[in-house]
Amino acid sequence: MAWQGILGHDKIVEFFRRAAQRGRLSGSYLFIGPDGIGKRRFAIALAKSLLCLNNSESDLNPCGVCASCKEIDNNSHPDLEIVQKPADKSLIPLELLIGDVEHRNSEGLCHFLSVKPQFAKRKIAILDDADFLNAEGANAMLKTLEEPPPNALFILLGTSAAKQLPTIRSRCRIVRFDPLSQDDSTQILQNSQIVDSPVQARLLSSIGQGSLANAVAWKDPEFLEFRQNILKILGEVPFAPVAFSKLLQDFASQGDRKDNASKKRNVIHLAQITVIQFFITLSRAISCGIEEVLRNPQYDDYLVSMVKSRLTRWKWDVETANRGVEITLKLEEMLIRNVHPMLLCDAWADSLAELFNTGIKS
Ligand SMILES: [Zn+2]
Repeated sequence: MAWQGILGHDKIVEFFRRAAQRGRLSGSYLFIGPDGIGKRRFAIALAKSLLCLNNSESDLNPCGVCASCKEIDNNSHPDLEIVQKPADKSLIPLELLIGDVEHRNSEGLCHFLSVKPQFAKRKIAILDDADFLNAEGANAMLKTLEEPPPNALFILLGTSAAKQLPTIRSRCRIVRFDPLSQDDSTQILQNSQIVDSPVQARLLSSIGQGSLANAVAWKDPEFLEFRQNILKILGEVPFAPVAFSKLLQDFASQGDRKDNASKKRNVIHLAQITVIQFFITLSRAISCGIEEVLRNPQYDDYLVSMVKSRLTRWKWDVETANRGVEITLKLEEMLIRNVHPMLLCDAWADSLAELFNTGIKS
């Protein structure tokens, strides 16, 4: 039976249960793991357990019927605050952490934690998107992280420890969340009725590779077709950089994405995930053999067929394949720095063309 309906993170539930039983909960935690694997849901379920008025903290088992549990379900609990990066911003604004200039230190997440709880024993703050904290924002939180007010709990959510500033990392207890297993993510997709059929659940779960956010992003057939077109270009020899860049730019400019910078960035992000999957699968196929990859349900059929297509006509080594991942990861920094998505496409296509040219024709 999954804890609070959350699949795949039983060990972490046990970790918190033991800590709560011994009265050894820390004041600041940093949850690390890919997007879309349930970190935020876990943090809220943990908050619900700790704030429940009927059951003891150490049970980690919220009753679901007390005033506190109900307030959490309605997103209106006065002792729980959740802050995330606004969709139209590239970083977490300072005012969300410590108030705007006129209300400095009398508003924001840090102030929220410093005020006495209204009806629970604790105050709990969740900072989602901690990857998007800049040095100023991180500095503003240092004191709160280092000496959280009594019974306050601060939970930061990020995708990797490397993306957090050292000052944040060193002040938080790091809790690592693994990607979901293929079976768990398929089951969650089916249970949540996001998908229309078990077949679609399995396909999306394998494309998502352990992340529900990635899986759901491809639900729209238009996006699924976009992914296949990217993979097709990657599988074709020789690589066509102009077609690659054009595919991305055209797709990012269609429909409601035309005048929406954040939707455009999302297209690039999804393309990035696809290209990384391609190179990781290529690398795996080089080191373990294509047969091994074919047997692994983690890789969807179309992805494997394009990897196979490239491998049969070019000799690759693992190092070159891994360089494809590196090139593609670099885009992320540029996306965060708000480089224009269209400029990114050209630069990316050129770097990939250079890499593909280094392969040796067999
Ligand atoms: Zn309760």
